[in-house]
Amino acid sequence: MFLTGLLCTVCSDTYQPAPGRYVCDRCGEVGTLDARYDYAAIARALTPNGLAADPDRSMWRYRPLLPVRSDVAVSALGVGGTPLIEAERLAERWGVERLWIKDEGRQPTASLKDRASAVALARAAQEGAGTVTTASTGNAAAALAGLAAGTGQMAVIFVPHTAPEAKVAQLLAYGAFVMLVEGTYDDAFRLCQETVDRFGWYNRNTGINPFVGEGKKTVALEIVEQLGWEAPDAVFVSVGDGSIIGGVHKGLRDALKLGWIDRMPRIYGVQAAGSSYLVEAWLNGEDVRTKPPVNASTAADSISADLPRDRVKAMAAVVETGGGWVVVDDEAILEMIPIVSADSGIFPEPAAAAAFAGLAEVVAGSQERVPGLAASDRVVVISTGSGLKDIRGVMRGIDRIGAVPLPVRPGPDGLDPTEISARMEQWIERLRKRSENDRSDP
Ligand SMILES: *Cc1c(COP(=O)(O)O)cnc(C)c1O
Ligand SMILES: [Zn+2]
Repeated sequence: MFLTGLLCTVCSDTYQPAPGRYVCDRCGEVGTLDARYDYAAIARALTPNGLAADPDRSMWRYRPLLPVRSDVAVSALGVGGTPLIEAERLAERWGVERLWIKDEGRQPTASLKDRASAVALARAAQEGAGTVTTASTGNAAAALAGLAAGTGQMAVIFVPHTAPEAKVAQLLAYGAFVMLVEGTYDDAFRLCQETVDRFGWYNRNTGINPFVGEGKKTVALEIVEQLGWEAPDAVFVSVGDGSIIGGVHKGLRDALKLGWIDRMPRIYGVQAAGSSYLVEAWLNGEDVRTKPPVNASTAADSISADLPRDRVKAMAAVVETGGGWVVVDDEAILEMIPIVSADSGIFPEPAAAAAFAGLAEVVAGSQERVPGLAASDRVVVISTGSGLKDIRGVMRGIDRIGAVPLPVRPGPDGLDPTEISARMEQWIERLRKRSENDRSDP
């Protein structure tokens, strides 16, 4: 293991990793810790050539860059190794030279959160903790529950009662101990934090556990490796707590430090209009260490957060890379689900669709102070979770664009082939018009 210490992102105090060490003593919860490594030693252990020859396609191919000893057993469910797919029709729609989608809906529990929970469970095993707990809007919990089911560890989950049914179903099926909180994610977070000490559970909470972002950074390592170690120009990430975007930044910084890429892409953070703490802070020049929580409410449940727990790292990701904070309303998010699905074959949940809606906003030039895209830019959008996670959200998007199935009655008075052909032509015409309208009026 090449982990050397933990550095407070607020005051720069350093700590040695140890059981029970989560945040900075001096700064409290805002003092999220950043894992530090011996990069000279890593450069000898892990090289692009070595990676090219490694048959392990999971995130654990980057183990020297992760805070887990080589002898610790990790999830065997194949976390990571998701495809990076070029989306030519979406690129054309938005006038982008090249556009790729990193499809995190194909993780074992169908969201990017598997990367984080895989590391948390491995760390818990390394530290000898039997039970791991987290609060979550749903996906982090499903990831913890599913991967814990794989390894035989115990998961204790706090989720808001408003979490989409599919996510709660995952938790129960995977055998986690589930507490459904009559309140928001932030209430669930507080309750979870209070019980951790009492029961001595390993704490996976976002913005508290310094290692979950290390897991999330593997998505960025995969992206640059899949692009042949050529950095993209811009990366779009949807943001709730800010942990994924912080992880993406960390992965890119690691790749830059190791000389695997030669420049840092601009990182764009996308928030829902009803949960836009970081956008507000950026536009108003507010300090995220002291800015009070907002009252979050959005149809994109995975990015609903009153107080983004990883706000310090999230803000740094955008500011230090010359990116921007983008805000999108729920209508734009929901409508984007069938647009992305029909034009790429990738099926995003609402929070994942938000990143695409953010790209559309930047292309339209409608966002205050956000740097635009150059015609030659190579762009990556991270599709963070599968549409199957939230079918109600998906159906709301489908309703908004007015897509309805054709009712068919079997039997002698059913449809004749001529009518089917006519209806199908209408449908194809409708799809064609829809994408033309979008192109002329973004
Ligand atoms: C968690 C999540 C996000 C946002 O990640 P944060 O680290 O909370 O900013 C976006 N999309 C999906 C699908 C998620 O599950
Ligand atoms: Zn500190």
